[in-house]
Amino acid sequence: MSRLAVVPGSFDPITNGHLDIITRAAKVFSDVNVVIMNNSAKNSLFTVDERIALIKEATKDLPNVQVGSSDGLMIDYAERVGAVAVVRGLRAVTDFEYEMQITSMNRVLDEDIETFFIMTKNQYSFLSSSIVKEVAKYGGDISELVPKPVEQALTEKFASREKK
Ligand code: ADP
Repeated sequence: MSRLAVVPGSFDPITNGHLDIITRAAKVFSDVNVVIMNNSAKNSLFTVDERIALIKEATKDLPNVQVGSSDGLMIDYAERVGAVAVVRGLRAVTDFEYEMQITSMNRVLDEDIETFFIMTKNQYSFLSSSIVKEVAKYGGDISELVPKPVEQALTEKFASREKK
């Protein structure tokens, strides 16, 4: 039986922490749909298309992972694609309160879609897209933190910004 899980996020850009969560979700669920939530409140560095391409590249060896995007409510997207679950990653306790709020709201909107949390691996506890962008901006080494194509994309992005 097909059991589809949605893994929502900004992925601006995807990091090894995200990839770890996606890989582990892909072992538990028959299909995983990674969805970029195009949240207008957030100022993103990469366009949605660039983010999709980077996720596709990073997950190309995971045959049951698809990538999409949405600018509506995450739970509406999950319903539309026929998901039975939402998977989120948990890092430090600071993630907990925010996730609890979102999960409670999603349960009000659709009580049939269950949210599951995967605890991050220790080495990724303090890893976020924001910190990676900050380090990359000043030329720091991010090779252990993101997939190779993301490292290249960040280098190019900041190089082209400097020229402007
Ligand atoms: P959002 O803006 O929805 O938090 P993110 O792209 O920051 O989007 O994160 C998407 C998902 O990946 C969230 O569930 C987040 O907790 C999880 N995540 C982000 N970084 C890590 C990490 N280093 N380890 C585990 N999970 C992570």
